[in-house]
Amino acid sequence: MTKEFFNCRWLKILDIIYGFQIMAITIYPFIFYKNKNPKKMIKKHELGHIKQVKREGIARFSWNYCCQFFKFRFKGKTSREAHDLISYEKEAKRESI
Ligand SMILES: [Zn+2]
Repeated sequence: MTKEFFNCRWLKILDIIYGFQIMAITIYPFIFYKNKNPKKMIKKHELGHIKQVKREGIARFSWNYCCQFFKFRFKGKTSREAHDLISYEKEAKRESI
């Protein structure tokens, strides 16, 4: 059962860690949104990640997600670029439009 949390100001901490603005994060089965009323596109994007976890399982999803992120980081990409290149991010982005 997915549970959504809104107005999570603590996500600002992740902005500092990642070096770019995080509007929401999905930590299955929870979705945390920075704003009180996130844009529809952001909600669709995060629900896309829920769908991916349900499809692949939390272990496989988390492992693949992290491996892809670090693969791109080691290739010299910035955190933002590496994040955007992750296949799960591309898929969720496509589905949120
Ligand atoms: Zn995402």
